[in-house]
Amino acid sequence: MKSPMNEKEIETTYDLIKSYYEKFLKKYGVKLPKLRDKNGKFTKDALVLTYLARFYPNTVVVTKSELTEFVRRFYPDTNDVQQARHLGAQKGWFISSGGRDNVHVKKIGEYRLITLEKPYPNFTYHRTDVIDDEDWKSILKKYKHRCATCGSREGEHHYHWPNTITKLQKSHKDPRKPLSGNNIIPQCQKCNRAYRNFWIFDDKGRVRGIANPLIIKKCDKDIKKKIYELLKKEYE
Ligand SMILES: [Zn+2]
Repeated sequence: MKSPMNEKEIETTYDLIKSYYEKFLKKYGVKLPKLRDKNGKFTKDALVLTYLARFYPNTVVVTKSELTEFVRRFYPDTNDVQQARHLGAQKGWFISSGGRDNVHVKKIGEYRLITLEKPYPNFTYHRTDVIDDEDWKSILKKYKHRCATCGSREGEHHYHWPNTITKLQKSHKDPRKPLSGNNIIPQCQKCNRAYRNFWIFDDKGRVRGIANPLIIKKCDKDIKKKIYELLKKEYE
C-alpha cells in the first residue's frame, strides 16, 4: 500500500509537472490545470495529475478507486473521478487509460502517466490558436483571401454552394502537428469540415498524405483489399 500524498508532496510534484510542461508540452497546446482555485483549494484536475505524476519518471498504474479515494480527502462528495481520462484525450497529457487496444495499461479503470515529455498521441490543439491575429492576416493576404483548397473567397458566395457565404478558417496542413504559423492554410468552412483531420495538405491545399488511417474505412471494398495487399507485402 502506498503512503498517502501530503500537501507538500502535491505542491512539489505540481512544480515538477509545471517545469516539464513549460519545456515540452506547452507548445502543443496541452492544458496545465491550476493548482488551486480562487479559494486556495487544490483543483480536482491538479490533484489527479499530481497523483498520477507521483514518483515521476517511475510512474505506476493507478486505479480509478485509488484516485477517487485521494480526491475525496479534499472533496468528500466525489463519487466517480473522470479527470484522468479527460486530462488525457481532451487536455493532452499522455495518460493511458486501460481497455480497448491500449498497449500501456490493460485493465479498464486503470491509468498511467506515460511521460511528461510528449503530449497524448494524436492530440491536436483546436480551441485556441497558437498564431496571433497579425500572422493570420498575413496568411490570408498571401492566399488573397481564398480557400487554399477550393478557391472560394472570404465573404463571397461559395464556389460550389452559391447560397453559402464563404468563411475562411485556420486549417492544419498536417493535423498531427500543432496549429501554428507554418502549419496553417486557410480553408473555407466546407473544405475544412469535409476533410476533418484525415489528410495532410501542401501549401496549395492539395492532399499529399494521410493523417488518420481511419479514412480507409470510407474506401470501396476493392481499394481496401489493395491497401491490405500493399501493407502485407511491406510488412511481411
Ligand atoms: Zn474550400
